[in-house]
Amino acid sequence: MRILIVEDEPRLARLLAQTLGEEGHQVVVAHDGREGYEVALSAQFDVIVLDVMLPTMDGIAIARKLRASRMQAPLLMLTARDAPTDVVKGLDAGADDYLTKPFSIEVFLARIRAVSRRGSIPRGVVLQIADLRLDTACREVMRAGQIINLTPREYMLLELLMRHAGRAVSRDAILESVWGFGSDVTANTVEVFMRLLRLKVDTREPKLIHTVRGFGYLMKATP
Ligand code: CA
Repeated sequence: MRILIVEDEPRLARLLAQTLGEEGHQVVVAHDGREGYEVALSAQFDVIVLDVMLPTMDGIAIARKLRASRMQAPLLMLTARDAPTDVVKGLDAGADDYLTKPFSIEVFLARIRAVSRRGSIPRGVVLQIADLRLDTACREVMRAGQIINLTPREYMLLELLMRHAGRAVSRDAILESVWGFGSDVTANTVEVFMRLLRLKVDTREPKLIHTVRGFGYLMKATP
């Protein structure tokens, strides 16, 4: 794959580029925001790794501008541990996933594989289960024609489950993809959020969110 890394910390940029190179990828590195934005527009990339805190233009602004210009490459955002709001802003700006610093190289490579796979899903896709409809382009959720207002976290949770409709998603996978690696959130928090989500989404029959005892959750229309 052709991968662009926009990261201003030289050591981290070098480590990521080297690792991806060893995996057989072709890597381009940009060290500041404006340069990264221009490089991203100038060529076709399969994945773009975008740091949030960057000189000249931050990663969130870059993501927003790239999406506004209909650039479709999957974006993996790198966020600082002490800036959790960056995650929501980043996803709202069009990032496909995020990784909280510091992270392990194995996790980084796994995320690159995951976002590149997801990249093959057309953007602006509408996910539907029974009468529940989630439009990923405008982040709108409707059930039986009624709009359901979700918080960003609830939305992420629902989108994750709907993307895996018919398959059980483990609590760990939910924690990882909705709250991020190394967050101090526990499985109990996942349960609390699932309860809130059910109160908004599953107010009518058929119930769509199912608990898989001792494992996680599953979305499907039939019991
Ligand atoms: Ca930085």
